[in-house]
Amino acid sequence: MKFKLEDAVIQKVLLPPEYGSVQLFVKREDRIHEHVSGNKYRKLLYNLKAAKDGGFDTLLTFGGAFSNHIAAVAAAGQAQGFKTLGVIRGEELAYKVADNPTLKFAEECGMQFQFVTREDYRYKTSPEFIQQLETKFGSFYLVPEGGTNELAVKGSEEILKDVQEDFDYICCAVGTGGTISGLINGSTSTQKILGFPALKGGFLSKDISKFARNTNWSLIEDYHFGGYAKINEDLISFINQFKKQYQIPLDPVYTGKMMYGILDLIKKGYFPEPSKILAIHTGGLQGIEGMNINLKRKQLPIID
Ligand SMILES: *Cc1c(COP(=O)(O)O)cnc(C)c1O
Repeated sequence: MKFKLEDAVIQKVLLPPEYGSVQLFVKREDRIHEHVSGNKYRKLLYNLKAAKDGGFDTLLTFGGAFSNHIAAVAAAGQAQGFKTLGVIRGEELAYKVADNPTLKFAEECGMQFQFVTREDYRYKTSPEFIQQLETKFGSFYLVPEGGTNELAVKGSEEILKDVQEDFDYICCAVGTGGTISGLINGSTSTQKILGFPALKGGFLSKDISKFARNTNWSLIEDYHFGGYAKINEDLISFINQFKKQYQIPLDPVYTGKMMYGILDLIKKGYFPEPSKILAIHTGGLQGIEGMNINLKRKQLPIID
């Protein structure tokens, strides 16, 4: 399973006539790796370089049960010869690794886990806890939860590096805000960057402002579907329909919600005609399997 940046091509989505003259394109960052979210790879690149330059042989990071970031650190770490440690939220998961596709994949990549209670997870960055981990595992390069820091933003800038065409809007899903910050810094001032937060709550703008060097961006807060990893049958059927129609798979946590939002906004006339939109497919497809396990348990339709 190799990392292939050259596969992150731009693909046109041929929208039906009711969408007017707005044109939609998708940058397939999801194709960089089968299991690793494209944006997570971008965010890790310069961090792994810093870890290597600093003489570290181990990466440590944090995440939940279905975290794209955990999968990415495990795979990218393995590819570059690092040992990897994952601090995982939820003690009960220690006995369920085999049933959890994300953790199983990370373990196969050589990641070692430290499972902690939800309560302890809140203090995961406290000096005492980090000290405990260092005593147990030796020294490590710490990658923050979700992977966002200066170096991650620098890596995300490169998503737009080889993009030739003149797009009026660049859209992406937002978690911690690192990816959109990179897109903002890599954009031209006539472009507008739209972020679609995958979670509820207005705390993101402050984080983005910390990293972003331009002000040509805004967040569209209407498509989080109730919060992080919350989904409904409407979203599932949208994701399945979109894949059937355009041969582009979307994930239920990030890119599915973003694309739902983009198409809804086009229909509502949000984008002046004839705008050209570039949606960044950040990946997240590894999370589908885990989400489907939960959907089946609830006897809901699954993602194809
Ligand atoms: C993590 C992730 C995001 C959010 O990226 P941030 O830099 O945290 O905002 C978007 N899409 C996918 C698929 C992700 O895995």
